[in-house]
Amino acid sequence: MPTKPHFFASHHFDRMAHRRDQDTWLEQRRSSGNCWFLPVAGSNNLVVKGPPPAAALLTLEQVSKKLSCTQIYLGEYKEKSCFALLTEHEHDSNWPDTEYQQVLRVATLIDIAEASLLAYARGMSIWHRNHRHCGRCGASTVSSRAGHVLTCSDADCSWQQFPRVDPAIIVLVSDGERCLLGRQESWDQGRYSTIAGFVEPGESLEDAVIREVYEETGIVARSPVYHSSQPWPFPSSLMLGFQASAASSDIQLHDGELEHADWFSPEDLASGKPIRLAPSVSISRQLINHWYYQQTGRDLDTSGTPPKAW
Ligand SMILES: [Zn+2]
Repeated sequence: MPTKPHFFASHHFDRMAHRRDQDTWLEQRRSSGNCWFLPVAGSNNLVVKGPPPAAALLTLEQVSKKLSCTQIYLGEYKEKSCFALLTEHEHDSNWPDTEYQQVLRVATLIDIAEASLLAYARGMSIWHRNHRHCGRCGASTVSSRAGHVLTCSDADCSWQQFPRVDPAIIVLVSDGERCLLGRQESWDQGRYSTIAGFVEPGESLEDAVIREVYEETGIVARSPVYHSSQPWPFPSSLMLGFQASAASSDIQLHDGELEHADWFSPEDLASGKPIRLAPSVSISRQLINHWYYQQTGRDLDTSGTPPKAW
């Protein structure tokens, strides 16, 4: 089963990182009209109301009253230079037929490339919002390199901060016949997912897989094998997907993060009872789909009654 590109991956557009410090080139792109602006207010992106909804890709003329807002160069998409426009407050918006939305809520309804752009803009917006002051001396920060560096304004400090990405492992553990899934108390009833957790300093990805699986479920995982990765800017994670085998079967919820964990057979997954799986936009679902295909030779989404997404 070929691994499909994950939602929110950025292969749909060119980040053109070498252009970020070319202010003259960026200004020429803006003034020539070869540009789109993507307003973001905190963690919500501006979208054109549906149906179906679409990313709001606004022209220079449409944002002429907002050009004092922080702009972040995202890259080139359909021969346009794209800039996130940090509008700060949702009520500042008066663009017709638009609204601010959580990108996760519209990701499957809009163009997949535009969903990636929105997620990228969202991640950068949240980073800017959370790093307005220097972590060393507390002075305010100043945006540079087209929004990709935040530099301390105190000349004696001048510490530079770069966009933060938090690595997290996510793993499908199998005992050969069943897969290990768990759920948190706060999730929708019946929803289960693969085991996940943040990588800690001084830890390899494989270390993190084995530690997280044991902490959350008491299962001893062995031989983690990398599968694929997915940007998950909610707010700043990079999900690193693995498969691993189980060297034990007795589940014990050690750290209290999960409300329940259990082993599920391919038949359980295909029946959709009693569990609901993560939506197709998530790497969790792709890991489950891949394991199901390995076990049965069939695509989970077309086998029997597919488990319902969110
Ligand atoms: Zn400082």
